[in-house]
Amino acid sequence: MRLNMYDLNKAEWSFFMNHEGYPEWRAKQVLDWLYKSRVTTFLEMKNLPNDLIITLKKRFEAMPLVVEKKQIAQDGTVKFLCKLGDGALIETVLLKHNYGFSVCVTSQVGCRIGCTFCASTMHGLQRNLSAGEMVAQVIIADKYLHQTSSQRVRSIVLMGSGEPFENYDESIKFVRMACAEEGLNIGQRRITVSTSGVVPGIFRFADEGWQVGLAISLHAPNDQLRSRLMPINRRYPLLDLLTACRYYCSKTKRRITFEYTLIQGENDKNEHAFQLADLIQGMNTYVNLIPLNSVAEKKYVCSSPDRFEKFLEILTSRRIRCTVRHRRGYEIDAACGQLRNKARM
Ligand code: SAH
Repeated sequence: MRLNMYDLNKAEWSFFMNHEGYPEWRAKQVLDWLYKSRVTTFLEMKNLPNDLIITLKKRFEAMPLVVEKKQIAQDGTVKFLCKLGDGALIETVLLKHNYGFSVCVTSQVGCRIGCTFCASTMHGLQRNLSAGEMVAQVIIADKYLHQTSSQRVRSIVLMGSGEPFENYDESIKFVRMACAEEGLNIGQRRITVSTSGVVPGIFRFADEGWQVGLAISLHAPNDQLRSRLMPINRRYPLLDLLTACRYYCSKTKRRITFEYTLIQGENDKNEHAFQLADLIQGMNTYVNLIPLNSVAEKKYVCSSPDRFEKFLEILTSRRIRCTVRHRRGYEIDAACGQLRNKARM
């Protein structure tokens, strides 16, 4: 089987060149082509000798992703449906903010976490993505952005389908390649990893010794409700989760983001806002209130705007920093796995 050329980091490219009998500086040339010039074929690597190009073509798959479909929303959100080498389909989303563009990267094909409101999890987990398959998603989105508006991707969120901490090693390798100077070269503080609350993963992540951001999908302020919405809470209840979050904050001195999707009649009552404020009081946090994207097969609906206002008001009155995230790319199925689910039908 041919390797994915984005799967190799600097050390691995050096090892490859040594192993094949080439000087180590050839590794830097390949990396420059891949990440500075952003070429996606070996033939474009003009300063490499022909025999090396032949070896590379034999051993590596050039671009491991093919864009099957692209949907562009009015707010500037672009959703890519990508096909992997084995035919699996994943989604990558390019999001426009007032400070620039971010890419939402997928970490697994499907997911096994089983959050009851999420479309990604409906067909279970198919497989983990490799670090290179995650890098390739950024490359594809960035290339599109550069061609259409001469801009570059400014930040990355590992917040697409899948649970990054159930694919820990590849997700971390991806983040390291994303922030490496010789890689995608995006600052650590501009990368955020989102987890449903895999507690051992949070501790490990805090110990990586970096400034990469962490977001927690909280969605409920008490164990009973959270276990109903997110079965992972039965394995890692709130007390354990918040202990891990406090550890992350103290190790990194960074603020943690809590994501809270408002679901009508489920987690959007005033009492939930008060409970949430009590739960995270005193922590260095930031709460993102997110409109639920309705998934056809699920019974949940998004809370009304006045619920959002009330929630925001209660949290703010308790001095919790909080914003409402605008719904993005709604008309293009941009919510977690919906486009992929349609394509599977
Ligand atoms: N597994 C990770 C990252 C992927 S999900 C996590 O759980 O954080 C990315 C975010 O989208 C999570 O906050 C998730 O809870 C949220 N999400 C999933 N389905 C959604 C939906 N239908 N509407 C709004 N947010 C949703």
